[in-house]
Amino acid sequence: MFGNTAKVKEIIKRLSKEYPEAKTELHFGNPFELLAATILSAQATDVGVNRVTERLFKKYKSIKDFADANPAELEKDVSSINFYKNKAKNIKASARIIIEQFKGKVPQTMEELVTLPGVARKTANIVLTNSFGIHEGIAVDTHVRRLSQRLGITHHEDPVKIERDLMELTPKEQWGGISHMLILHGRRICTARAPKHKECVLFDICPSNNI
Ligand code: SF4
Repeated sequence: MFGNTAKVKEIIKRLSKEYPEAKTELHFGNPFELLAATILSAQATDVGVNRVTERLFKKYKSIKDFADANPAELEKDVSSINFYKNKAKNIKASARIIIEQFKGKVPQTMEELVTLPGVARKTANIVLTNSFGIHEGIAVDTHVRRLSQRLGITHHEDPVKIERDLMELTPKEQWGGISHMLILHGRRICTARAPKHKECVLFDICPSNNI
């Protein structure tokens, strides 16, 4: 059977064929829009976020517009999304910090991005990979976590430790890709409840193919 490095290589090979289009499903036109959309997407669906941002990004056209937003109005504009009050607050505060401390440009390092309110490693990874093509880590969301565990790539629960395991086993140029592919596979096949083992291209290399 495979060692873990060979197994991850095989997973990437097979999932790349299944999901050649794998990239974030969030809609955005610039790095700040992706940052805002990703903040909104925590414990919310990408479809729901896209519905909101379609209007939001027409109303607030620049980082300054978000920084200057009336807090109550911004809350109302995102109110169909979970935890909208905190998310609205974090988006506005992030915009203000970017203007005051980063010369109005979304920072391009993990170290700087995680200083923004509401931004942890997952969000930072998504922005770095999808906006700047920079791979500093691997975004671990609920799907990446579940699939990494089911596939036997990690035994950890903590996203930071799961990310470390994935980074050790995955070639750097695939750090963005593996996250997107696992997310799509998690949404379509290896769902949290009732995973469709029989339709899964990883069936023969998955230790959880009978759960
Ligand atoms: S075989 Fe089943 S548990 Fe394993 S990755 Fe596929 S759907 Fe998920």
